[in-house]
Amino acid sequence: MKIVFATGNPGKIREAAEILGEGFELVTPAEVGITEEIPETGHTLRANSQQKADYIYNKTGLDCFADDSGLEVDILGGAPGVETARYAGEQRDSKANMAKLLAEMARREKEASMARTNGIDTPKATRKARFRTCVTLIVNGQHHFFDGVMEGRIALAPAGEGGFGYDPIFIPDGYDQTNAQLGEEVKNTISHRSKALHAMTEFLKG
Ligand code: IMP
Repeated sequence: MKIVFATGNPGKIREAAEILGEGFELVTPAEVGITEEIPETGHTLRANSQQKADYIYNKTGLDCFADDSGLEVDILGGAPGVETARYAGEQRDSKANMAKLLAEMARREKEASMARTNGIDTPKATRKARFRTCVTLIVNGQHHFFDGVMEGRIALAPAGEGGFGYDPIFIPDGYDQTNAQLGEEVKNTISHRSKALHAMTEFLKG
C-alpha cells in the first residue's frame, strides 16, 4: 500500500517506516510534488494533524497521514500544548524553548509557594507533564484519528545530548534519566509518536 506521510522530517519518516513494516510504501510530500510548506494554523493538535492530512489528500487524492505533537505541563495549565514548537518564538529554537519553559515553571512555583506562605492553600507544585501526538489518517477519503501519550516530568535542568526538541528536560515515567540521555532506541519504544503510529498500523493491518 502506498501512503504519503505529511512530513519533511527524515527522522520521522524512518521511524514510521520501521513501525509500518513491510507491505507499505511510505512517500514524502516532495515525492508527490508538494514542495511548499504545509499550512498548520489549527488551535489543537488534532486540528493541525487533520489540516496537514487534508492538504495532501485534497492535492493528490492519495491515502495519507499526518502527525502533530505537543508538550503539556500541568503547572502551566497544559501549556505549551499546540504552541510547543514555537513557544519562545517563530525561530523554533529548542534551547530557547526549554529555557522559557523552565523559567515559566520557576515563576509559577514561586507564586504557589508565596501563596502558601500567606496562608492560601494551593496545590503542591508538580513537575508532571506529558507529550501527546495526534495522527490523522485518510484512507479511501475517510478520516481516522489515533492518539499517543508519553507521561513523565520536567527535569530541573537539561541533561543529555541525544534526541531533539525538549528531550533534554523530559524524564519519562519509570525512568530516572531524560529522553536525551536514554537515547532513541529506548525512547522509540515508549514515545507518544510511536504509540500513535502503532495504533494506526494495527488499524491498517486489521
Ligand atoms: P511536531 O508536531 O512533531 O513537529 O512537534 C512539535 C514540537 O514538539 C517539536 O518542534 C518539538 O519541540 C516538540 N516535540 C515533539 N515530539 C518531541 C519529542 O519526542 N521529544 C522532544 N520534543 C518533541
